[in-house]
Amino acid sequence: MSPQWSRIAQLAFGFTFACMWSAQASAYDFHNCSDDEIDKIAGAAAVAETVMRIAEADLNSIEDGGDATRFETYLGSPATSERTEHVRQMLYAIWQGSMANAAYYCNRACPGGANAFSEQGSALGNQKTYPVYLCERFMDDDELNTYDRAATLIHEYLHHYGAWDPDFIPEDWDEWARDLAETSPNTAISSAWNLQFYIDQ
Ligand SMILES: [Zn+2]
Repeated sequence: MSPQWSRIAQLAFGFTFACMWSAQASAYDFHNCSDDEIDKIAGAAAVAETVMRIAEADLNSIEDGGDATRFETYLGSPATSERTEHVRQMLYAIWQGSMANAAYYCNRACPGGANAFSEQGSALGNQKTYPVYLCERFMDDDELNTYDRAATLIHEYLHHYGAWDPDFIPEDWDEWARDLAETSPNTAISSAWNLQFYIDQ
């Protein structure tokens, strides 16, 4: 995990709430966002969709007998069809569900200096839109690029579908996720960090 990722992990951590996005949305739903902020979110969402397409191709490859290293690194082994299918359903949910129905709220206050948060499981109930709350760091931190912002959106989208976070901040999120994948693959498969790393690596 790069230092930058470690930092993002720390920024994004810490909430019962979590976040996500999709480029398929025909009418994005923005609240309290400037034109510049909307451009940043839309740019990140476009990258998020590209990243999700690549993850879909990786799942297809695994199911065709291809290399499962990336999957096993973050989601544990074995990469059975049952487990890849679980991840595929999550991927499609955030892609077609969260991204298409996200409501973005800019200029929110993030506890603990995170860059975003969202409502855990909001896509699983009757809500028509799934809020993603974006904080000052998401917009203004010069160390974040569009790819980093895309990763944050993916992470938040995953929370919409119930993906969980640990209740502590590890020293290194990437290492924490890899360890979890190795020791508890069936726990890792529903962790927001593990799924995010698998999807965006
Ligand atoms: Zn989270």
